[in-house]
Amino acid sequence: MMKLSEGEVTAVLLGNMQDGGLPHIGCRCRTCTSGNVGYATCLAVVDGRTSPDRVWLIDATPDIKFQLNLLADVLGPYPQRPDRLRQPDGIFLTHAHMGHIGGLPQLGPEAMFVQGLPILAAAGLVGLLAETAMWRPLMNNVQLITLAPHEPITLAPDLTVTPIPVPHRDEWGVGTFAFRVQGPGRSLLYLPDIDQWEAWAEAQAVLAAVDVAIVDATFYGREELGGRDPVAHPYVPHTLSLFAGIPGQLILTHFNHTNPVLDETSRAHQTVLAAGVQVAHVGQVLGL
Ligand SMILES: [Zn+2]
Ligand SMILES: [Zn+2]
Ligand SMILES: [Zn+2]
Repeated sequence: MMKLSEGEVTAVLLGNMQDGGLPHIGCRCRTCTSGNVGYATCLAVVDGRTSPDRVWLIDATPDIKFQLNLLADVLGPYPQRPDRLRQPDGIFLTHAHMGHIGGLPQLGPEAMFVQGLPILAAAGLVGLLAETAMWRPLMNNVQLITLAPHEPITLAPDLTVTPIPVPHRDEWGVGTFAFRVQGPGRSLLYLPDIDQWEAWAEAQAVLAAVDVAIVDATFYGREELGGRDPVAHPYVPHTLSLFAGIPGQLILTHFNHTNPVLDETSRAHQTVLAAGVQVAHVGQVLGL
């Protein structure tokens, strides 16, 4: 369980894996059979200046029930049912892929049964959630809020979250957001998925303008694909060559189970650290 310093605004990393998590379903590779468990990439923003703390999640992953338990101390008890955790104050969604929305069913009547929970997403994704009949029991009990690109959402007068569109595989034409979180002291970019840096003209400017950039590190190299067609994600060495030198701290996340960076003894892991770049880990706390 996470203990955060009171009276501060922080971001907490609650996962560092690609959508499928660890183990990857059905995979018999050394990493997946190691017994290690890894949660899909997720970030919490916590404003500890209020009582109770206010807590927002970015993405609802298939591991959400474990990730909420990590926040038990900051969420505190649900007033009407003290043996339960209070629901978060809102969930921002980056996009419609499994690792980012796969936890939503846990919020419905079969499980957490949230009441009026704000879910904030792009107009297209809000439409997809609202119009798909299968989601209705959950959607009856949430408050869907549409995010407009580049328009900040104000969580507190000095705490905002701004959606930034990025190019990423888009089966339903609903887009993908990265989020820029501006706290009272520091700023952070959360960007778990992108097809390629070159397809996003603002990449250099956006990454150079934050204190912490947490970015897509799904694959290290082509050999992980076992001869399959390249999947659209930048490879880690390319990301390092572009952004290791940004003024802020670069942190890698969204690792596929095949990514050698996950192995602390690997040359890939050492290459990342030698570049002054961090590997995201669960429980990592970043002051805002
Ligand atoms: Zn993803
Ligand atoms: Zn595996
Ligand atoms: Zn995706």
